[in-house]
Amino acid sequence: MNGKGRVSMARAITKTAYAAGRSCPLRGYRSLVRNEWGNAPPPAPSGGLARYRMRDAAVTALHRIWLRGGQLDLEQLPALAQSCWESSGGEGLVDPTATDWLREYVSVNPFMTNRRLVAVQQTFTNTFMGRCFSARPDALCVEGDTLLALELTSARAPLLDRRAITVMAAIDQLALHGPDLPERYRRLDLRVLVCSHESGHAHDVTLSRAEAAAVLTEMVEWVAQLAVARAAGALKALPSRDGCGRCQYRRDCPSAFPPADVTGSVPAPYSWDGGRPDAEDPRERAEGSSARFDPPLREEAPSP
Ligand code: SF4
Repeated sequence: MNGKGRVSMARAITKTAYAAGRSCPLRGYRSLVRNEWGNAPPPAPSGGLARYRMRDAAVTALHRIWLRGGQLDLEQLPALAQSCWESSGGEGLVDPTATDWLREYVSVNPFMTNRRLVAVQQTFTNTFMGRCFSARPDALCVEGDTLLALELTSARAPLLDRRAITVMAAIDQLALHGPDLPERYRRLDLRVLVCSHESGHAHDVTLSRAEAAAVLTEMVEWVAQLAVARAAGALKALPSRDGCGRCQYRRDCPSAFPPADVTGSVPAPYSWDGGRPDAEDPRERAEGSSARFDPPLREEAPSP
């Protein structure tokens, strides 16, 4: 163990690495246990994935400006959108509707109203059953006696994948109870919110301590099983067009889909204002698209 409690020869467990491992055990082994082949450069994003990343990058950039207390010059939004588009792998000029969307996000400020932003994409680590877990919430806010970990997503129906939600909440809760959290925030009640910047809704997905411990225990055991399977030569690769398209190990993987066949994108069709039709939440469909950002923040209990 090193000074921060990390286990040597093993990687920190993150929600992203765990999700990768769920789609392909071989990728999970490399992400979560040990990377025997080294990291390849991330695959070049397709247009769909670049749009997805651009929106995340732009929202993060805005939050950093708000965190510093800086005044945002709305005239600079097109330049900000273009910069984030290029840093996300996009080519050419960014779609003008992306800037419109960003302007709306700024004007409504949907998830920060009456909340004090205290951190943006800061990494927190903590150990559980000898494994290091790492979380990087998109934003941390203080509201009264509560510390809110905001996890932003482009999905219109962010609660559809319950497993992913519980894993994220469990890791956030563990990491934010660890040594990296400043002393002044430790007495606050911690809540984890999933915030869809597509719909403007925020969902409280906080787990009880027992629920979080059960999820983390399952994850530790699953990661250990990956190593056992690898040692026994029984680790399977599960290539998929989209999974391989996003995989950082694709270049060296004998099971990978050929580059010409992978998509590496969010499912099409995808638009700036239309969300992801493949993942619509029936409740949001019933409310209609005019429900976006109105009211600015609605906290809802997770569906049973
Ligand atoms: S390239 Fe595809 S098959 Fe190979 S590890 Fe990555 S996701 Fe799995």
